[in-house]
Amino acid sequence: MALSFARSAELQERAERFLPGGVDSPVRAFGAVGGHPPFVERAEGAYLVDADGNRFVDMFGSWGPMLLGHAFPPAVEAIRQAAGRSASFGASTADEANLAELVMECYPSIEKLRFVSSGTEACMSAIRLARGFTERPFVIKFEGCYHGHADALLVKAGSGVATFGIPGSAGVPAETVMHTLALPYNDLAVVEAAFASHPGQIACVILEPVVGNAGTIAPQPGYLAGLRAVTQRYGALLIFDEVMTGFRLAAGGAQELFARELGGLPDLTTLGKIVGGGLPVGVFGGRAEIMDYLAPLGPVYQAGTLSGNPLAMAAGIATLRAVLERRDSLYAGLDKTTAAIAEGVSKLAAEQGIAMTTNRVGSMFTWFFTPERVTDFGTAATSDTAAFARFHRAMLERGVWLPPSQYEAAFVGAAHGPAEVEMVLEAARGALKEAVR
Ligand SMILES: *Cc1c(COP(=O)(O)O)cnc(C)c1O
Repeated sequence: MALSFARSAELQERAERFLPGGVDSPVRAFGAVGGHPPFVERAEGAYLVDADGNRFVDMFGSWGPMLLGHAFPPAVEAIRQAAGRSASFGASTADEANLAELVMECYPSIEKLRFVSSGTEACMSAIRLARGFTERPFVIKFEGCYHGHADALLVKAGSGVATFGIPGSAGVPAETVMHTLALPYNDLAVVEAAFASHPGQIACVILEPVVGNAGTIAPQPGYLAGLRAVTQRYGALLIFDEVMTGFRLAAGGAQELFARELGGLPDLTTLGKIVGGGLPVGVFGGRAEIMDYLAPLGPVYQAGTLSGNPLAMAAGIATLRAVLERRDSLYAGLDKTTAAIAEGVSKLAAEQGIAMTTNRVGSMFTWFFTPERVTDFGTAATSDTAAFARFHRAMLERGVWLPPSQYEAAFVGAAHGPAEVEMVLEAARGALKEAVR
């Protein structure tokens, strides 16, 4: 039986009168998959409920933050209590150091950190700091990696940018990105070549250690260690953008998951999403010697009216405490549930003769509609995005809400269990038929 989206369609029409595209972030408009996006009324655990009363298994978790499920009771209570003490002071509170300490318990590479209000700010500030510290202008990033929408990083940026087929963005002058080198991911030789051709000029290499913003792409064996070695050799900083992977792949993110093969820690790390438990928080941190270059101690300026916001700190503390309380069982459980979903659907696709490549690392995964192995943005882009769009709509009609783009990772949270696995597999059984018709 087809779901009704009548109320959401009305709300979309109304929103479009006031907001460009009816949204505050482009991917929410469903441009890549078509059809009206459902308007959310509330969410609990693994489920979203829309304005028409439809219930969906949530497979994107607010794009990552909802590791422990929606309306996680300890976070809800902490936010309530903090709100009663006022939403913002613009002055220091004890909870900033309290949340920082919890973060550092998970990230040995972070000796000092600063809170900001988004992943975009975290990456933008980390780049400024790297340039200030090294006194060098160039930044290396990778095709399909997204580091937020700061001008200098909006080059071959995957995710929503890839979805819309724009190489970068209008409004970004060439001079702003002339010091950004965008290279293919998983290819060490091109990085070596860039360092060789820009002697003493490259401040840092920033990457998603596991890519989520081109769909899920894992680093090839030796790739992360190679980047650690080449940056060290040329005196450049290595920045792990763990806004998505932090607290998701492990409490200590990709740098914990790949610790043994990494051969050293990143110099700087950015975090976001889960660290704020659904409230706007970003983090950049790393070696104390570098972080002390920040104002008020050092010459690199960075500031924020709402940075370290008390509600956000409270939500983050409640979330990270819960993560640390059951660190091992949490990630083992996520791995198991995600494998059941990702590999279960992959098997169904194979049975139906559908070309699909499933990439999964921990609780993030992507079903690429392509027979190719997906190891970088170029191979991700061989996907049949029209088939993905049909699959997405067919899943939505069956009560499963996937991220609305082929170039976005799906997420599983602790609230997903055997019942949700069954629902996703059951929905996919029918939806795959519609995807390739
Ligand atoms: C989401 C994301 C960002 C940007 O974070 P915002 O909070 O949306 O500004 C940066 N880097 C990565 C890897 C992300 O996934």
